[in-house]
Amino acid sequence: MSDAFIPVNTPLLDGNEAEYLAECIRTGWISSEGPFVKRFEQAMAEAAGRRHGVAVTNGSVALDIAVHALGLQAGDEVIVPTFTIISCAAAVTRAGLVPVGVDCDPATWNMTIEGVEAAITPRTRAIMLVHIYGLPVDLEPIMKLAKARGLKVIEDAAEMHGQTYRGAPCGSFGDVSTFSFYPNKHVTTGEGGMIVTDDDALAEHLASLRNLCFQPQQRFVHEELGWNARMTNLQAALGVAQVERLPRTVEIKRRIGLLYDQHLADIASIRRPVARTNYAENIYWVYGVVLNDDVAFDAKEAMRRLAQKGIGTRPFFWCMHQQPVLRRMGLMLDESHPHAEYIARRGFYLPSGLALTEGEIARSAQALREVLP
Ligand SMILES: *Cc1c(COP(=O)(O)O)cnc(C)c1O
Repeated sequence: MSDAFIPVNTPLLDGNEAEYLAECIRTGWISSEGPFVKRFEQAMAEAAGRRHGVAVTNGSVALDIAVHALGLQAGDEVIVPTFTIISCAAAVTRAGLVPVGVDCDPATWNMTIEGVEAAITPRTRAIMLVHIYGLPVDLEPIMKLAKARGLKVIEDAAEMHGQTYRGAPCGSFGDVSTFSFYPNKHVTTGEGGMIVTDDDALAEHLASLRNLCFQPQQRFVHEELGWNARMTNLQAALGVAQVERLPRTVEIKRRIGLLYDQHLADIASIRRPVARTNYAENIYWVYGVVLNDDVAFDAKEAMRRLAQKGIGTRPFFWCMHQQPVLRRMGLMLDESHPHAEYIARRGFYLPSGLALTEGEIARSAQALREVLP
């Protein structure tokens, strides 16, 4: 076993990626007009059980455009999990809307129906569902509530390619759903994102928003402000190859989770990810652990000790309601979410990339064992 540093993520690009990229270069099709973009949109839409896919430059801008396209009014409230990436609250805030946070479940790290119910006010217009770290949100009760109250649903499935909820693909639940293709995601294009929907008119609007809202009749006359968020044919070529191997990717991720579970099962001082619920089996986008109360130090110290042993880690998300930038804007000020606050301080994830070897998993697990009291 080598003692080389084990990075927190290493992608696997050993399918048709090189061949499809070479095809882009051979044919000269590198821009967003190239044929792989449509192919990738169709493949992702199909994998997510949707009619339409709109490829964009990253998962954050996918959220920006998706939220914008729902056409909500300034000041409308959107419920968001507090335990998530800034992109979620940023998309809501940039659209002139008001993010209202909800706590997570202490075991699944996902938002809950109880949290959503408590956060609803007469000004609530939408719910942003964000699936966390490989296990979906328990969607059924939240979808039922959204329907009963006429709330829009934005589903952030950035960590969920290939995952299902009660057998239906994640990414099939929102009025709009989004994906990211950052290198640590199950499907990567280096940078990239996608918005999927079943609504024909919405899909057309999303495609226009992605392309600066150029108009077919008078290209440089604009009725609406859009973004240049076009994905290149080079990125989409990678994406097509990555979707082809998605089932295998999910298998590998589950195997990584299982191996970590086996290595770490007897360590009482950490909380491990939930392996399965009655609605889904974890696909371990990342393998997170949370230090229990009896550990005298926090995630920062554990990560520092692991780095000394050559193990790459990342901290858990920091709560949205504790983001200085949002608080300075007067947002989420009166919120407190104890479960999310706890795991944000005491959680981190271990090397979880697809190219991880069994030896590296064993070494990472052993290092964690050694740094814990
Ligand atoms: C990765 C991620 C994003 C952002 O995607 P980028 O492509 O990095 O902009 C958004 N939401 C969630 C839940 C993510 O994990």
